Amino acid sequence: MEVEITTVSDEITRSAGISLCILRLDLLHPITGGNKIFKLRYLIDKYGDMPESTKPLLLGFGGYYSNAIAALARFGKENHFRTAAIIRGQKPAKKNLTLSRAEKDGMKLHFVSRQLYSDKAMAAEEIISHYEDKNIELIPQGVASFNGYLGCKQILAGINPEYDYVICDSATGTTLAGLRASSPDRIQCIGIAVLKNKREQLDNLKDFLMADGIHAAEVELMEDYHGGGFAKQSPALIEFISWFNDRHPDVPVEKVYSGKMMYGIYDLANKGYFKSGSSLLAVHSGGLQYLLQE
Ligand SMILES: *Cc1c(COP(=O)(O)O)cnc(C)c1O
Repeated sequence: MEVEITTVSDEITRSAGISLCILRLDLLHPITGGNKIFKLRYLIDKYGDMPESTKPLLLGFGGYYSNAIAALARFGKENHFRTAAIIRGQKPAKKNLTLSRAEKDGMKLHFVSRQLYSDKAMAAEEIISHYEDKNIELIPQGVASFNGYLGCKQILAGINPEYDYVICDSATGTTLAGLRASSPDRIQCIGIAVLKNKREQLDNLKDFLMADGIHAAEVELMEDYHGGGFAKQSPALIEFISWFNDRHPDVPVEKVYSGKMMYGIYDLANKGYFKSGSSLLAVHSGGLQYLLQE
């Protein structure tokens, strides 16, 4: 996959003395674009040639604002898979864009209580019990699976490894693990957590990276930029996003994922975290479905 790189420059990058390049996975596709294309690709390798009726139903997990749900629904529609999802929380009176679009893409949504959702195996068992045809493949929340990890190891394929830092926003740690495993050792890999789940992310990092003999301590996970939790925002974050979008309208960022990454990068740059003269590659992991009213 050919991926564009955009270089951005402004008063903050200049005063920090850094060069900031953005790997535009967001441009690969308006809905599935981003890391989910890489995470879901194994399904095409595994089932691509089968007729739709014999492919498994793909059953995902996510919250109301989940990009993985948006991506899985559209991926299923475009690649002829039936899809369904277990959604955290009661059915809302009015579905947001993510959910209504997923439904339009043919995904069946099953709303479950937060309590049941917290036990994914139990929630899956409960929902699957209502399906007659048990040819179902579970897709873990955020596609945080080993296959998803292997897909993320392809994100940097073909990219010149001339950078000092590779940075991404991080929800499950899967993308971050893939970037670490596919980067030369001298590159520092940093994840900007978009929610409060450091322990869970570190566990995932450990599991995935172990397969490649890499210690999870070789990545840095920043937890100061989630703005209160997943899909939550602090006033400072909102202000930053508006500042960034004014300056760099060609690099759209939103407030759930990519905006938090940029906020983190710029805050770290302001604090002198990055060595002057160093070059950064920020992975824009997509998520622009929030901005797209189709
Ligand atoms: C899914 C998603 C993430 C989270 O990736 P992880 O591999 O779970 O850390 C980050 N950014 C965007 C835009 C996403 O859609």
